[in-house]
Amino acid sequence: MSTIFKKIIDKEIPAKVVYEDDVCLAFRDVNPQAPTHVLVIPKKEMRSLNEVSTQDKELLGHMLLKCGEIARSLGVAESGYRVVINTNNDGGQTVFHLHFHLLAGRPMTWPPG
Ligand code: 5GP
Repeated sequence: MSTIFKKIIDKEIPAKVVYEDDVCLAFRDVNPQAPTHVLVIPKKEMRSLNEVSTQDKELLGHMLLKCGEIARSLGVAESGYRVVINTNNDGGQTVFHLHFHLLAGRPMTWPPG
């Protein structure tokens, strides 16, 4: 079942895109939890980290590399950032299309809430 993120990929609803290529898309979170809050998503529909397989290794590695590049391009790499993947209920996942949260612009606390 498709999600709101599929509509963003298909440009059916707008998003503030910060990066796009053939396999992934990065855009600003509509409800930011930090001064910089970007979502990095695969264009391939995958519900969560539970659904990935070894065939997705290259895609996942690519997305992580892009997180670092996006952090650099947004000027937050040196100050620091956090990359989070919420998975299912206890992980706090609300949109069931795999996504990496890239959060920056303030000190993060640990443990996470
Ligand atoms: P999750 O809770 O699943 O880890 O993260 C989903 C994220 O998607 C939330 O941070 C939420 O603010 C964001 N989000 C939900 N709907 C939209 C939308 O339509 N546009 C954008 N840009 N972000 C969205």
